[in-house]
Amino acid sequence: MIERLIANEKEMYDFGAYLHSVLPETGVVYLNGQLGAGKTTLVRAVLKAAGYRQHVKSPTFTIVEDYLFENRRYLHFDLYRLTDPEELEWLGIRDYLSDSLLFIEWAERGKGYLPDPDLVISLTVDNRLCRRVALSGVGIEC
Ligand code: ADP
Ligand code: MG
Repeated sequence: MIERLIANEKEMYDFGAYLHSVLPETGVVYLNGQLGAGKTTLVRAVLKAAGYRQHVKSPTFTIVEDYLFENRRYLHFDLYRLTDPEELEWLGIRDYLSDSLLFIEWAERGKGYLPDPDLVISLTVDNRLCRRVALSGVGIEC
């Protein structure tokens, strides 16, 4: 497991760029941490490093946002408002696995209906600006 201290949002963007450089094109990344921990910010940072130039909105209400650019596909899930994990079957989450990189916030709410993670990133709030990130890889080496 790797642990790192992120001093501010700018450093989170730097960390996102690093992640982008080591993540494979397909895989499943769980992002754990309380509301405001920086999960969505980290996905923004990865997408920015990947070359995405438009706004990355939080999928809190839509459950999933889909990004297809430069021949790569990224799916960003936020299951916070999922009422029944069975809804994930309707979203066809398993169909995406072969060609996409999936980021999943609040994965515990989709328990039983989600693919296993290749990488788990846990974010904790140290103070207003400072975050701690812990990476535990199952299939991805960072
Ligand atoms: P989550 O998706 O975990 O609920 P967000 O990424 O939506 O969290 O929100 C994180 C909030 O914390 C944002 O308002 C962001 O500006 C702020 N923030 C402050 N410091 C940091 C940091 N070091 N890394 C990420 N976000 C930070
Ligand atoms: Mg979020």
